Amino acid sequence: METTPNALLGAMPRQRRLRREWHFPSLDIDSREISAEAARLRHCDHLRREPRVALQSDGKPFYRIQCADCGQKLSHSLPHSSVPNRERCPQWNEELYQRRLREGVDAYGQCREAAIARRKAEWRAVYRRYLASADWQSVRQRVLKRAGGICEGCLEAPAREVHHKTYAHVGDELLFELVAICRPCHERLHPSATNGYPELLERHLEKVHVHGG
Ligand SMILES: [Zn+2]
Ligand SMILES: [Zn+2]
Ligand SMILES: [Zn+2]
Repeated sequence: METTPNALLGAMPRQRRLRREWHFPSLDIDSREISAEAARLRHCDHLRREPRVALQSDGKPFYRIQCADCGQKLSHSLPHSSVPNRERCPQWNEELYQRRLREGVDAYGQCREAAIARRKAEWRAVYRRYLASADWQSVRQRVLKRAGGICEGCLEAPAREVHHKTYAHVGDELLFELVAICRPCHERLHPSATNGYPELLERHLEKVHVHGG
């Protein structure tokens, strides 16, 4: 039920908290970026390329240009009239072509892994900068103040640290996503650290994924 007259609402200055501007890299990677990188890596610039003949399922010959070095297919089916000396045209090397395709799949996989690792590293780098920033200091102070300086894990020891319960809004946390904590309690929460980072943060980064394709 509306209890405040609209006129009054309109007259009230809207308090808007300034959002902290921390741009963490997206956890979403476009597969097209990866395909393009894999294609660049595997670009065929060999010079030995020539028309080659293969047989269609109905036994009729067709011609395509193939790289003699890496097996890359360099053209679609060519008009017969455009192929000189058709009778002496070398055979299409299907084995080499298939190997090239398999290597292409591997290259994509490697580029994909590399892109994910890169994105995680970029993310961690922003996080390190954030933890060293005045923004984080101010958030930290407010959380410690809220807890009256006492650990929210044991309500006994003085809290000296602040723990993230989630990284969903990292850089612009809702303050209930953070707790004041003492060292021993904090150690209980982080029995294992991966790459020197809390497990929960690494789990957050497991969300880095490739979409499309
Ligand atoms: Zn080639
Ligand atoms: Zn504690
Ligand atoms: Zn923590």
